[in-house]
Amino acid sequence: MIRRLKELDLDGKRVFVRADFNVPIQQGKITETHRIESTLPTLRFVLAKAKKVLIASHLGRPGGKKDPQWSLAPVRDVLEKSLSAPVVLAPDCVGAEVEALVRDPRHRVILLENLRFHKQEEGNDPVFAQQLASLAEVYVNDAFGAAHRAHASTAGMTKFFREKGAGLLLQKELEYLGKLLARPERPFVALLGGAKVSDKIGVLKNLMPKVDCLLIGGGMAYTFLKAEGVSIGHSLVEEEHIELARELIAQAGGLGITLRLPIDHIAAEKRNENSITIEGSIPQNLMGLDIGPKTRDLFIHEIRKAKMVLWNGPVGLFEEERFSRGTKSIAQALADSDAVSIVAGGDTVAAVMQAGVQNRVTHLSTGGGATLEFLEGKKLPGIEALEVGE
Ligand code: AMP
Repeated sequence: MIRRLKELDLDGKRVFVRADFNVPIQQGKITETHRIESTLPTLRFVLAKAKKVLIASHLGRPGGKKDPQWSLAPVRDVLEKSLSAPVVLAPDCVGAEVEALVRDPRHRVILLENLRFHKQEEGNDPVFAQQLASLAEVYVNDAFGAAHRAHASTAGMTKFFREKGAGLLLQKELEYLGKLLARPERPFVALLGGAKVSDKIGVLKNLMPKVDCLLIGGGMAYTFLKAEGVSIGHSLVEEEHIELARELIAQAGGLGITLRLPIDHIAAEKRNENSITIEGSIPQNLMGLDIGPKTRDLFIHEIRKAKMVLWNGPVGLFEEERFSRGTKSIAQALADSDAVSIVAGGDTVAAVMQAGVQNRVTHLSTGGGATLEFLEGKKLPGIEALEVGE
């Protein structure tokens, strides 16, 4: 059983919150604050009850060394503004100076410095884990994006706590993604896109028996089309997965699942050349870089019928305006639908944001790799580490 934040005894306690503030930073400025905002409800909830909150996160890949480029200082500024409370940035995440700050009654909110300044974090070192754990009495994990890693702050340190559980964001992720795998609303439509079949094999296999309808777009669709004997020009293809695609198509048929592949394409000779709309087979000199208008209608028609939709992976080279229409129209279709809509994956979430409809989908999953592993049906170490007896 995993305890919810509301079930934990936080009153007057020192509470350690593992957050995922691994945000994009350019020239010292955070360019996308979605991950920070997602954890604010948990932080506000803890702050209302706890004596002290210690917030920890990793940022980038400093490689186990202190590197000012990867300091959490810019995160501190955003947190202080958002929480309307002073936030102290500790000089490190463990050690005597940090312990002194924690003891000092003047500081209520302490942001620990980047966990990955210590190689022991990724090494899940037990001594380091114990040092982190010694700072607090309650452990809350809200870092879904790091839950697929067995690191000291996500796994190792949890065994030192009796009082531990999931933050509101982690809880929300577990609720929506868990529901999707265990008790989906029907019809349940999954739309998978993105560049490669190889990244999605686990997800395809795990979802196949659960969905009513599978829509495949993006670069990965061409491996499936080739498996069906359709000419795909020089579109992206993974020859080594054609056989697997054939098996998945057969499996869908056997299970009575509606499987839809693109029937038309926005194609070009190269990514930066003029584009044309093509139905059916793609000539040798062209590659498919977005779904065409008929496919858009087909996919949107299936989405309209759904009670639950999962979308992972853009259906075209959406970074280029000319090949972004398919992805935009899918984002819009999700926003217009009454279904429970769940969007997973960094690029797909970015596409929903670009379309400005982020408030009209039910759930934007914050974990890239973690979300995919969850959808593959794998047990995530950061989630297992929160399990307590009944
Ligand atoms: P993924 O990380 O596997 O979800 O793939 C996302 C990437 O796939 C994005 O950068 C898209 O531009 C790219 N992509 C989607 N459709 C196509 C396509 N038809 N051809 C080439 N790249 C594509």
